Amino acid sequence: MTHVLRNALLPDGRRVDISVDAGRITAVGAAGSAPGTAAGDDLGGRLVIPGMVEPHAHIDKALTADAVPNPRGDLDGAIEAWIAAAQRGQFTYEDMVLRARAALERLLLNGTTAVRTHVNVGGGVGVMHVRAVKEAITEFAGLMDIQIVALTSSPMTGADGAENRASLIEAMELGVDLVGGCPHLDPDPQGLIDNALAVAADAGAGLDLHIDETLDPHMLSLQLLARSVMNTGFAHPVSASHCVSLSVVPLETQQVIARQVAEARISVIPLPQTNLFLQGWHHDVAMPRGIAPINVLREAGVLVAAGADNVQDPFNPMGRSDALETAALLVMAAHQLPDAAMDLVGNAGREVLGLPRVEMRVGDPADLVAIAAPSVRGALADAPRDRIVYRQGRRVAQRSETSSISR
Ligand SMILES: [Zn+2]
Repeated sequence: MTHVLRNALLPDGRRVDISVDAGRITAVGAAGSAPGTAAGDDLGGRLVIPGMVEPHAHIDKALTADAVPNPRGDLDGAIEAWIAAAQRGQFTYEDMVLRARAALERLLLNGTTAVRTHVNVGGGVGVMHVRAVKEAITEFAGLMDIQIVALTSSPMTGADGAENRASLIEAMELGVDLVGGCPHLDPDPQGLIDNALAVAADAGAGLDLHIDETLDPHMLSLQLLARSVMNTGFAHPVSASHCVSLSVVPLETQQVIARQVAEARISVIPLPQTNLFLQGWHHDVAMPRGIAPINVLREAGVLVAAGADNVQDPFNPMGRSDALETAALLVMAAHQLPDAAMDLVGNAGREVLGLPRVEMRVGDPADLVAIAAPSVRGALADAPRDRIVYRQGRRVAQRSETSSISR
């Protein structure tokens, strides 16, 4: 049955009525043109944009910042703090289900309708995190598209990696969407990539690795990944998250690698917030930003989408689970203009997750967010709390804000 979202403001300035049926947009006409008898919502001139995407979350770790502090602030400090807390038995299954659910609720209320989350596997916890996250996401069926990456603990290679490799196989049998791991933390980055590709190919799964989350310009495992994907003819989606070190090598090197990444059809996921926090603690002068070179990658034809990564945990004490926060950081710390920044947290993310783009055309999925903002730039600047979230045309979340001044 047709449902109309009346009086919507599109990013191009048009005021429209958006008709929706069976989860898709069936008409976009001037405001007031849709039949008055049709059911629907009056959006009151709110800006309507595509449902936003978090292409790189860690919902098993989310919302632990107070319980697991990271006084050093850097990546090693975060990893050490997390492992120590895990060894103390600080993370129970029940607690993890509740936190993962809370993290997803925050994302949904802010207008995120698709999420890819990494989930720790191995490292003494086996597949407990995968089980907890799988339980948490059952409550979001029909509300969000959710993909799980089995983030294999380090090391993945050699004798010391045997338990982690076994846990990864167990996770694939439980049912996850992609294989993950961290080549830059492994004694054998190429061996990790080979193993991850083999496991993913066997399972018919994709691959999303934490790549080069370091300012060391000599760590360029992104190049190894691109060559390996080409050489194996790996047929499933591949993403390279972070790619921090690519930001500190000469432009010519960036361009060569970007072309290889494009040829291998690897998408890249820069993560401004967590990289700004974790990277650069040892640079007293000209502190680097640690954000993958978005424009160089896009100019080479690489699909790039941005995410927040961690949210209020030892890896990132901040974070509102709001893609508009990521987009605002892309404007301020990565020189993206507002429309480009919005695409990086919206349609580009949908492409990375294998979902069709939402261009407000007839036939597009009606995964939409209505925001009380006058423009895309205004939405990024103010990040208004007032939002209405639609998935396949159905209103699935809503938040509002009130304010007053008493004189
Ligand atoms: Zn991550």
